[in-house]
Amino acid sequence: MPTPTIGVFALQGDVREHLRALETLGVTTLAVRRPSELEACDALVLPGGESTTMAKLARTFELLEPLRDRIKRGMPVFGTCAGMILLADRVEDGTADQETLGGLDITVRRNAFGRQVDSFEGELAMAGVEGPVHGVFIRAPWVEAVGPEVEVLARVEPDGDAGRIVAVRQGPLLATSFHPEVGGDTRIHQLFVDFVRATTTDEP
Ligand code: GLN
Repeated sequence: MPTPTIGVFALQGDVREHLRALETLGVTTLAVRRPSELEACDALVLPGGESTTMAKLARTFELLEPLRDRIKRGMPVFGTCAGMILLADRVEDGTADQETLGGLDITVRRNAFGRQVDSFEGELAMAGVEGPVHGVFIRAPWVEAVGPEVEVLARVEPDGDAGRIVAVRQGPLLATSFHPEVGGDTRIHQLFVDFVRATTTDEP
């Protein structure tokens, strides 16, 4: 079985934390800042950070269209927080000129929890992961609506807010509102790596 190369979008965001998590899982990692680096990847992580800045930098560094193209062609992508926003087809409370890569048939609300609790941590149950997951939410989005192909993997109920969707999957695209790269629990990265390994075994 070939070792997949998993890139981390590295123009902005918590890149190092994702690289570290992936390295412990025995895949080849690559910080992606230019199209040639994206080409070398079997899969990609979009980290947490600031989604409008990430999209603008992606355009400046000529990564926006190559990223959209790879997503269209089925590259597995795992987005966390701002990364989830970048994967969303629709954004509420975005900036007027907010661009996304798209691919996930979801509507995300940016800074959604911000109105009640800016940042918080909590335990949640996530489909595909055994035992509770400690979710770290930092000015996090929630998923407001999902299309028919989208599987809801986790919900959270902060301060009585009933069951907001915070983790989803649609085919090769996985996204969480929270930051599994923070805190040393690599189970969600493992879920992604397992999926990447399963989809890259047939390649030459
Ligand atoms: N609020 C940020 C945004 O809109 C996301 C925050 C994060 O990634 N921790 O991009």
